[in-house]
Amino acid sequence: MSYRIEGTTGTWEIVVGLEVHAQVISNAKLFSGASATYGGEPNTHVSLIDAGFPGMLPVVNGECVAQAVRTGLGLNAVIHLESRFDRKNYFYADLPQGYQISQFAHPIVGEGKVVVDLADGSQREIGVTRLHLEQDAGKSIHDQDPTRSFIDLNRSGVALMEIVSEPDIRSPEEAGAYLRKLRQILRYIGTCDGNMEEGSMRADVNVSVRKAGEPFRTRCEIKNVNSIRFVMQAIEVEAQRQVEIWEAGGIVDQETRLFDHARGETRSLRNKEDAHDYRYFPDPDLLPLVIERDWVDELKAALPELPEAKRARLEETYGVTRYESGVLTAEQSVADFYEAVARDRDPRLAANWMLGDFFGALNRTGHAIDDSPVSADGLRELLGLIADSTINGKIAKEVLEDMFETGESASAIVERKGLRQVTDTGAIEAAIREILAANADKLAEYKSGKDKLFGFFVGQTMKAMKGKGNPALVNDLLKKLLAG
Ligand code: ADP
Ligand code: MG
Repeated sequence: MSYRIEGTTGTWEIVVGLEVHAQVISNAKLFSGASATYGGEPNTHVSLIDAGFPGMLPVVNGECVAQAVRTGLGLNAVIHLESRFDRKNYFYADLPQGYQISQFAHPIVGEGKVVVDLADGSQREIGVTRLHLEQDAGKSIHDQDPTRSFIDLNRSGVALMEIVSEPDIRSPEEAGAYLRKLRQILRYIGTCDGNMEEGSMRADVNVSVRKAGEPFRTRCEIKNVNSIRFVMQAIEVEAQRQVEIWEAGGIVDQETRLFDHARGETRSLRNKEDAHDYRYFPDPDLLPLVIERDWVDELKAALPELPEAKRARLEETYGVTRYESGVLTAEQSVADFYEAVARDRDPRLAANWMLGDFFGALNRTGHAIDDSPVSADGLRELLGLIADSTINGKIAKEVLEDMFETGESASAIVERKGLRQVTDTGAIEAAIREILAANADKLAEYKSGKDKLFGFFVGQTMKAMKGKGNPALVNDLLKKLLAG
């Protein structure tokens, strides 16, 4: 799907590359044993290393390294058996060491790729340039006191993965799809919770524009955007800004900008002239990081089934559509729930119910799948009652709503409310006869050729039977009696 900006001098396309910072799920920090848990009282998850005390020696956390390798494998990327840690030097109040330990020339993960799903059902491949490990900084707090700022070092030293994409993204939609897919993969593997509101995943957005077929032009980098929607908006307004500059005969400066979502614009933070010289050099406290092929293979063998593979398997095993498989694999817990329901039930019916009434009820009651008031077994039981003709589909919808409200099982509700389907042909016939007698005019019309009235009689009969008639029997008997 092509995204274009029509300018006064012609048509422009956009070029985007994303640098995503993803906080590694681990108990301890990248180089210290302090807790990496989000939140906590300020400065309670801090070791002397995180506070930058002189003479402290960092020790790399093997679990963080494993998480980076798992992620690399999930991104179909090259794993480098030897990588290095470098110091990236800069001064900031919340960076007590005066440098961040990162990986510059020799990252642990090299080139990979992410397949993204677009709204029109097509897929595109976005290249991943690299993934490296680095430390997070602390947090400056400016809004607690009129004259002072405070520093919270809880986050200082927490492991981040920086995942850099190739400039392969060509629209806001593709950027959104890339971030969603990346987040989905990280969550499946369990290496990052992808929670953008809490800042455990954030993106630097590089944007440039060009006329079709041209080489790339100068890019601007929009720092620290913390929601997918804002990334998409930022790209749109930044590209528009650049087109206007080029078309007015100006030159786009390479600079760092920030996105102000309230005003819907990007603003300059710093330009190339005051760009940092980080004076990267290998951290003398850390040896090169050498891992073994066997270990990488073990991690690979232990990876869970990833979204693409799961999607293909659901389609293959259960005959669900491409669209359904996409929704059902959006989160691992949804797929698990579906498979638990679909077990010895009609899998197509199970998919219909999950995507329709079940998700509808979850939304309405403000629940996520993980705290659903109706369990997979509960939904499976309900579908079982449809399958064995205890209730019909329409009554089942009512039962599901009741299950959400009361937490009772489907069969308990059916018994309590007397919702069992009526399959007694005598009772159905009696109901039909009453309807026909009460609607002599309609009956005459039907007999004179107005076939469409059949539906009217079905509806009236079902209504008279409080929705509990067996639909197939009602249809059959009606046909018989109307013909008579
Ligand atoms: P730096 O190290 O200076 O940040 P990189 O080459 O690592 O530069 O690029 C950073 C990000 O910018 C990458 O995601 C890359 O895809 C993207 N990028 C590079 N050139 C362009 C361009 N002309 N337009 C848009 N994005 C770009
Ligand atoms: Mg950059």
